Amino acid sequence: MIKKRKKFRTLPFILLLLLTVVTSALLLKDQIGLAGGEEAGEENFLILVNRQNEVPPHYTVDLTLLSNGESVATAIVPALQQMFDDARAQGVYPVVASGYREAEEQQALLDEKIAAYIASGYDRENAAALAETYVSPPGSSEHQLGLSVDINADPMKSTAEDVYTWLAENAHQYGFILRYPECKEELTGTHYEAWHYRYVGKTAAVTIYKENLCLEEYIEQYVDSAVDVEKEAEE
Ligand SMILES: [Zn+2]
Repeated sequence: MIKKRKKFRTLPFILLLLLTVVTSALLLKDQIGLAGGEEAGEENFLILVNRQNEVPPHYTVDLTLLSNGESVATAIVPALQQMFDDARAQGVYPVVASGYREAEEQQALLDEKIAAYIASGYDRENAAALAETYVSPPGSSEHQLGLSVDINADPMKSTAEDVYTWLAENAHQYGFILRYPECKEELTGTHYEAWHYRYVGKTAAVTIYKENLCLEEYIEQYVDSAVDVEKEAEE
């Protein structure tokens, strides 16, 4: 009888504790305005997508909708949240300008760019070739993975320069890399983009940052060669 009472007395405390945990989790979610999301999936954070390597045809990703209508892979939300929180704490205010894109959206962006070049006097063939050096054709855009974000400044609070500088110096600590660096255009196939960040996980991001690599180089040096060593060991 006494034992039973004791149990009963602790129940309200357990409930209170649960309520506190749930409430703080919800509050935390509200800060970045998440509208949904599930547990982190098994995404391959080092998946390579560029002009030579298209998004696999049956690629699927679990997405989380942000309050501004953009979506990103659910698995990268905690790292993205932490990065934005820390930037804000240091007086820099980034916003996600573009996250996940369907192939159709990517095509529409490319068509827009081609039309702009045609309007400024290029013939269709040259307009298309030029546009593709700035906007990846559908299938070769990382935005279709949900692992990439274009990050701009909240115009009321920060300059683009402040945001790009902060990201260039800090993003790797959160597992993000500047995906299209200057001087790597021949390897990435894309012009320098100060705003485009790709999640690759912290280990890869730190190495890429410290050794001044692009993702193509990192995969060649660290991933493909590791697979070769494994194969040799098996033989
Ligand atoms: Zn981008």
